[in-house]
Amino acid sequence: MSAQAAQVAPVAPAARTLLVSEMFGPTVQGEGPSAGRRCGFLRLGGCNLHCSWCDTPYTWDWQGQSDTGIAYDAGAELTVVDVETVVASVLAMRVDLLVVTGGEPLRQQRRLLPVVDMLAREGVGIEVETNGTIEPHGDLVRPGVRFNVSPKLAHASDPLRRRIRPAALHALNHTPDVAFKFVCRDPGDLEEVAGLVAEFGLRPVWIMPEGRSPEVLQQRLTWLADAVVDRGWNLSTRLHVIAWGDKRGA
Ligand code: SF4
Repeated sequence: MSAQAAQVAPVAPAARTLLVSEMFGPTVQGEGPSAGRRCGFLRLGGCNLHCSWCDTPYTWDWQGQSDTGIAYDAGAELTVVDVETVVASVLAMRVDLLVVTGGEPLRQQRRLLPVVDMLAREGVGIEVETNGTIEPHGDLVRPGVRFNVSPKLAHASDPLRRRIRPAALHALNHTPDVAFKFVCRDPGDLEEVAGLVAEFGLRPVWIMPEGRSPEVLQQRLTWLADAVVDRGWNLSTRLHVIAWGDKRGA
């Protein structure tokens, strides 16, 4: 499909619905502080950034802007799902953690609130994976909800004013359960991370290699590990890539 013939994403028509890319589980969280923890995944559609190396372009890229060059069909990729169906699907997975990711899930955060409410009553915690450009709704900042914030560096391609939003970073940094996870390609990226960490007082910091194969992850982990530890930060791999490769829905 050409850029001129871009698909229009479906719009969730009612307040108690979400625009969903995919749901899957039980599986394990592959990244960050909860890596290895059994969980379910809810991947929401749409994103306000256009990272060149995005590993989920099928959630937002209707014009072939990412490195894949593929223009996905929004009508085929995204589905409007009511919140009761989402909750029932999660409970059927028998997990005590739901990872809400995207795309950029905070674009639908008001619609997400009933899901969080219902799952909290069932003892299911939430991790929201966000790119750090949208301020969290006050009702989403609560016990049992962690924000895994992944501000994007220059190599992601979007201009600075789009990918670094000071008010959103400040608000997220003051939520009670937060981690900042930066995707890096080589030790040179760590200097850019250090600048953001110092400017916004971000903590705790996790560094994760960019890579969609076990071989690339291994190589970049080796490059990054000592420098990350020296800076007093944490290191994450991508367990799901090691276990299942670059397979969608794993
Ligand atoms: S913020 Fe995340 S989902 Fe959005 S384009 Fe970047 S990597 Fe992809």
